[in-house]
Amino acid sequence: MPILNSWVSSANSHDTDFPLNNLPYGVFSTDENEPRCGVAIGDMIVDVTTLEAEGILQAAEQDVFDVPFWNDFMEEGPAVWASFRASLTAMLAEGSSDQARIEPHLVSMKDATMYLPFAVAEYTDFYAGKHHAINVGTMFRGAENALPPNWLHIPIGYNGRASSVVVSGTDVRRPWGQLKGPDDTVPRFEPCKRFDIELEMGAIVGSFSDGPVTVDTANEMIFGYVILNDWSARDIQAWEYQPLGPFQAKATANTISPWIVTTAALEPFKCDTPEREFELLDHLKDTGPMLYNIDLMATIQPEGADKPSVLCKTNYNYMYYSSAQQLAHHTTAGCPMNVGDLLGSGTISGPEKSTLGSMLEISWGGKEPITLETGETRTFLEDGDTINLTGAAIGDGYRVGFGDCIGTILPAIKKSDWT
Ligand code: CA
Repeated sequence: MPILNSWVSSANSHDTDFPLNNLPYGVFSTDENEPRCGVAIGDMIVDVTTLEAEGILQAAEQDVFDVPFWNDFMEEGPAVWASFRASLTAMLAEGSSDQARIEPHLVSMKDATMYLPFAVAEYTDFYAGKHHAINVGTMFRGAENALPPNWLHIPIGYNGRASSVVVSGTDVRRPWGQLKGPDDTVPRFEPCKRFDIELEMGAIVGSFSDGPVTVDTANEMIFGYVILNDWSARDIQAWEYQPLGPFQAKATANTISPWIVTTAALEPFKCDTPEREFELLDHLKDTGPMLYNIDLMATIQPEGADKPSVLCKTNYNYMYYSSAQQLAHHTTAGCPMNVGDLLGSGTISGPEKSTLGSMLEISWGGKEPITLETGETRTFLEDGDTINLTGAAIGDGYRVGFGDCIGTILPAIKKSDWT
C-alpha cells in the first residue's frame, strides 16, 4: 500500500510518524482544554472529543470520547473500531468535503501535553525474546542453563503492576532496594547501582474474555500496540528473583509511548514468528502471521550532552512468541482479561551486539562499558540520563510510527526524606 494523502499537508511527509495510514489514538490537553481523546495526523492532533460532542463524528450510539481515555471506545468492539477508522480516514483524505468542518478542531502537537492513552486495567510482562533470554540466562545462571526448560514451549511471564505504567515524558526515580552481590556475605539496602532499560512492545487488550481463547481469538482481541520501556533494577533483580521471579526490580516504572498504534494500521506489516526448535502444543500454534515488522531504536542522552547516542537498533520480528500467543496462553487457566490490559512483549534483542535491547546485554553485565557518541562511557544508567525508545513499521514511502517513549533518570530519594 502506498502513502495515503491527506489535506493535512504535514501528514504527507515521508518521515512523519503519523501519515493518514497510521491514525494512532492518544489523550492530550492544551492551555484551553482539559485532557481529551485525539488522533495524530502529521504534526497535528484531531480533537475527537469535540467532534463527537458537536455531532460531527460519532463512533458509537452513545458517547465514548467524553472521558480522557480510549477504554470506552475499545469496549464497543471490532466493528466500531473499523467503522470509526474508515470514517476518520475518509474525512482526513485529500479532497474530502469534510475539511472545513474538521479543520477548526485540529491542534498543533507542539501545543499539546500527552497523557496515558488508556486506563491500564492490569499489566503483565512476558519474557519472549529468545536472544535476550539466552543472554540474561547465561549471565545469571551460566551458558548451560541459559534457557529455562519451559522456555521453548510456553511464553513465560509475570504479573506486574498497572500502577507502575507511566506515559512518555514522565521522569523516573532511581529505586532503592535490597542488594547482595556474589561476593557479599550479607545483603544491604541501597539505591540501585545497575538501573537499566528494556526495549519492548506493549500489546493492548481491547476485548473481555473470561475463559480460554484460541490464538486466533486472542489476535482479534488485541486493539493496538505501544512501545514500552520496562525500567529494570538488575542488582535488585539478581538477589530477589529466585524462585518467584521479578518483583521490586520491575516495580519502579514502565514507560509507554503516548499513541496507540492500531492493529489495523499495522496490518500491512504482519510477519511470522521465527523457526521453532520444538512444535508448540496445538493451543499455542501459529495460525498465520501475527507478529509485526517494526524497526526499533533506543537512544541515551547524558545530562548536558548536546545530542543523543544510539544504544541499539532492533526489530519486533525477533520475538519468539506473538502477543496473540501470549494472550492465548494467559487465558488458558481461566484468568479473565479486561479491556485496557497491557501485555509487555519481553525485551527485544537480535543476534548482533548492535541489536540488543538492554544495557545489561550491551555491556555484558557491566564488563564491557559502552562508549557513547559524546565520548562518555556507560555500563548502566546514570542520574540525568534521558532514554528514548522509538520505532516505526516502514512502508513504501511512509512510516507508521509510535512517537517518543522517553524518560529521564532522577537521583534516588534521600533516605532522610522518608525514614
Ligand atoms: Ca521486561
